[in-house]
Amino acid sequence: CGIVGAIAKDNVVPFLLEGLSRLEYRGYDSAGIVVANGKLHRMRTTERVAELGKLVRTQNTEGLTGIAHTRWATHGAPCERNAHPHFSGDERKIAVVHNGIIENHDMLRQRLQQAGYKFLSDTDTEVIGHLISYHLQTADDLLVAVCACLEELRGAYAIAVVEESRPDRIIVARNGAPLLLGIGNNGLYAASDASALVPITRRMVYLEEGDVAELSSSGFRVLNCLNAAQGCEVMRPILESDLTR
Ligand code: GLU
Repeated sequence: CGIVGAIAKDNVVPFLLEGLSRLEYRGYDSAGIVVANGKLHRMRTTERVAELGKLVRTQNTEGLTGIAHTRWATHGAPCERNAHPHFSGDERKIAVVHNGIIENHDMLRQRLQQAGYKFLSDTDTEVIGHLISYHLQTADDLLVAVCACLEELRGAYAIAVVEESRPDRIIVARNGAPLLLGIGNNGLYAASDASALVPITRRMVYLEEGDVAELSSSGFRVLNCLNAAQGCEVMRPILESDLTR
């Protein structure tokens, strides 16, 4: 299972697809991608990453921002409906990918259903999207809403989130599952594993437990939400990876 994300000055689809195929060795049962290009354009499959690539190419999907995922099902059968990315929100639509397990998903699902959220999958992941969407109603800013959501999650996760109306940024976070950033000449990238980043850059930022990073067209910043609900800004060094392609 794995996550890749990108925001760049050129089409991110080739990076996302190559990244996913480089994460294939981690094992997966389905794969999916969202490209933010005015709309959140989603494609999902229970076939190989190569099939997802064909799907993306036949639909001519391109964009400067996107997130993608290989899923190893823990909650809900491996089928297209349960494959990530998952959507939430009508007015402020968001897409979420997630690796790991949300332990308190039952309790959160009940609460969110009472608040009117409809669940379209059997995954624990779908509570993350709806919870972010719920907090967006009061927090207004996606980064603040993500931090408020993470505060309520129990379990191990790495996530990436993109908002339809703000395709100029993606938010990623990790707690108990790996995630790192790639700092490229043409854009900013995120992946579960350095091997997915090396085709595009060797300059990497290793996120620590509780880190939430905002990648935007104007740069990146990292907050740590372990001890502060709103998160407090932290410095993470850019390191040069010696991993070969
Ligand atoms: N628990 C999530 C699911 O079953 C994510 C699994 C994964 O790490 O790929 O959909």
